[in-house]
Amino acid sequence: MPSRPVSTYKPLCQSDDKDSLKNDIQRHVISSLGNDYDPPRPYPYYKALAYAVRDRMVDRWIYTQRRYHESKAKRVYYLSLEFLPGRFLKNNIYNLNMDQCSRQAVAEFGFDLEDLSELEWDAGLGNGGLGRLASCFLDSMAALQIPGHGYGIRYDYGIFFQTLSNGHQIEKCDNWLRNGNPWEFERPENLYEVQFGGHTEAYQDENGKTSFRWVGTDNIMAMACDTLIPGYDNGHVINMRLWAAKSSREFNLEFFNMGNYVGAVEDRIHSETISKVLYPNDSVDQGRELRLRQQYFFVSATFQDILRRHKKHIACWSEFPDHVAVQLNDTHPSIAVAEFMRLLIDQEHLEWNEAWDVCVRTFAYTNHTLLPEALETWPAALLGRVLPRHMEIILEINRHFLAKVRQHFPGRDDLLEKLSIIQEHPERRVRMAHLAIVGSHTVNGVSALHSRLLQERVFPEFVELFPGKIRNVTNGITPRRWLLQANPGLAALISQHIGTGWITHLDEMKKLAPMVDDPAFREAWRKVKKENKQRLLRYVLRKTGINIDESSLFDVQVKRIHEYKRQLLNIIYVISLYNRLRKDPSSVTVPRTVFFGGKAAPSYVAAKLVIKLINSVAEVVNNDQSIDNKLKIIFLSNYCVSQAEKIIPAADLSEQISTAGMEASGTGNMKFALNGALTIGTLDGANVEIMEEVGRDNIFIFGLKAEEVAEKRRSGHNPWDCYHQNPALRETLDMIRDNFFNPEEPGIFQPLLHSLLEGGDHYMLLADYADYAATQEAVDKLYLDQDEWTRRSIINSINMGKFSSDRSIGDYARDIWKVEPLSRADFNGNCPLPGEDA
Ligand SMILES: *Cc1c(COP(=O)(O)O)cnc(C)c1O
Repeated sequence: MPSRPVSTYKPLCQSDDKDSLKNDIQRHVISSLGNDYDPPRPYPYYKALAYAVRDRMVDRWIYTQRRYHESKAKRVYYLSLEFLPGRFLKNNIYNLNMDQCSRQAVAEFGFDLEDLSELEWDAGLGNGGLGRLASCFLDSMAALQIPGHGYGIRYDYGIFFQTLSNGHQIEKCDNWLRNGNPWEFERPENLYEVQFGGHTEAYQDENGKTSFRWVGTDNIMAMACDTLIPGYDNGHVINMRLWAAKSSREFNLEFFNMGNYVGAVEDRIHSETISKVLYPNDSVDQGRELRLRQQYFFVSATFQDILRRHKKHIACWSEFPDHVAVQLNDTHPSIAVAEFMRLLIDQEHLEWNEAWDVCVRTFAYTNHTLLPEALETWPAALLGRVLPRHMEIILEINRHFLAKVRQHFPGRDDLLEKLSIIQEHPERRVRMAHLAIVGSHTVNGVSALHSRLLQERVFPEFVELFPGKIRNVTNGITPRRWLLQANPGLAALISQHIGTGWITHLDEMKKLAPMVDDPAFREAWRKVKKENKQRLLRYVLRKTGINIDESSLFDVQVKRIHEYKRQLLNIIYVISLYNRLRKDPSSVTVPRTVFFGGKAAPSYVAAKLVIKLINSVAEVVNNDQSIDNKLKIIFLSNYCVSQAEKIIPAADLSEQISTAGMEASGTGNMKFALNGALTIGTLDGANVEIMEEVGRDNIFIFGLKAEEVAEKRRSGHNPWDCYHQNPALRETLDMIRDNFFNPEEPGIFQPLLHSLLEGGDHYMLLADYADYAATQEAVDKLYLDQDEWTRRSIINSINMGKFSSDRSIGDYARDIWKVEPLSRADFNGNCPLPGEDA
């Protein structure tokens, strides 16, 4: 091997050097963007700043990679079909500690950093909580200096852009790459081939052993697109590698040889559809063939990449799990279990048992939901057609697994059917959760309650079969985005009193406990909230033309629209409030502004109807002059990460009102409490743990508990009893029935009423209504005592330490991945180690 030349590369300036940043911005405007720098126009300057920031990450990223390589550190691969990063500009600037110099630099060109940052289109490659969690986790891996990599798909179209037309949701396609993407590195020279279809055949290898190969396939290429993720002020930069589909290098020769040139090109276009669009369902399995292809496409490319990186450094396969941990974010990437077995057996020629041991010690799986409609299954016929070799391997995995079940539960044939990876009736299907459980060393739920329900209700036999395999890691959120960046006023107030340690050690917020009783501190806290409310109020005025009373209670429910999340319960209560106001405005002491935001899956009829109902009620209420401006309803269209950053810091009240036992964790609940909102919520998901941290007296808990919901469903719940017993509830339901809010479209809300009254009220809205309404009155009462409200707001915020995603990632690293953080070694401009490793 020729020796490497000594590097003469001069690293870029330190990140806090304003003048060099200015110079780089101008250079990028000219030489990267081909623009005239004078007069400065905002968009090129946004992009040039992004390039200049990216420049400062690349050095550190290469350095980080080389340190991984040199230290032979164990790596974590976080596989997720969704990432929801939102905007990168300010996040990267804060994490690189460049905010002072960036603000100054752009100011000298006549720009405001906030305005430039608004020009960035959100990266919306996820639906909601699950995708956002993946992005918070990458931020924390970088912050904790864990050798980690994110892997996913670079969709051409992310989650749809939501607009409203006459109160109905309209989906527009999210062409997020329209203006290019200054953050990513496309790597067209690095392609992997991914196979689909074809068939398998047996052959004798050189030792006379029967082996299998997968032939006659259609092949698609995967191209890496890398986005760098910087840690907070630590010189550690990790990578989110997203795969884009490309047609194979060769044209389809058959077409080509027949002179069908255009047919060959069409074929090419067809293969690139695989990474075209994100499926817009949250917590529902849509079961489309293209989705299965997306899953395998990304898993296959990822494993080729992982094996390329590690194969040459391991002495034998049994040590592979000492170098690699793979986390499956839900079952979406769980075909990886079969793919890794295929690679080990068909390509590396390991024996079954040896391969299986390596496989199980490599994988861990995170379960995200108890909802039956979300549990992924694939028809065996479909899976066998798209991935014939994988189907064979899954059947073999199942054969070994069922032998274990038989041995453990002799004579229990009912259990074989229940636990089998293959569901036989009414149609043969592959249960991906079972594949993931059997193929992983650890399975985790995402809150204490969710993990307990997983163990008790969903997988009790798995618990017996694999003691200790199912455990809990409560979700978290990154305090860098959700407090430092989103709420600079509060961040500054906190840092002024306890320094900046909280940014990476959120537990340190507890140091503010003595300040709770300091009237001046409470006043300062209230002032920040007021400014955040004014900021939101200006945004709402711009977006909707509606004027909001800044002293009103900002009551907020923003999240995906789903029946189990119960936006319908909220709007029904709001209608009852409106009725009280119509009868006697003085009967309501606290003016409220009720905010809703969230997308409904395009095919989810009931959820879309809830959006329409909210907007119809808003139309009537917001235009009723008789209620003394004491109630306003705002539906903010296109809820997304950047909008969440504007709404959450301004909230007084956080609505976390899912039917108990149905929200796995929630992370919105954590973002609100961290920003000083009080929660009104059920004992569901992480709400339970939030209550434990902030104290029962500092949160508004109502409603049935998970066990009570289950019991009520068993014993039979009669929604008509609730209707008859509660006159206010009855009045609101009758108004909906009688088309009070929708005289133009009579009858449209009947399906909602039907599901409540005739359909058995599966989500227990009516069962929880009276307690919810009473608890909302307790909220009003407390809000009248602004000093006490502020006290509790502070107590909520400073006790959120547990819900930092740094804690979650610390748990995964220690208990599941068994990886150690790299020691802190600041990038000093030198990259002395050989690298070949990225
Ligand atoms: C945090 C977040 C979510 C998850 O909210 P939940 O209330 O936990 O369902 C969804 N969407 C966006 C944009 C988020 O930032």
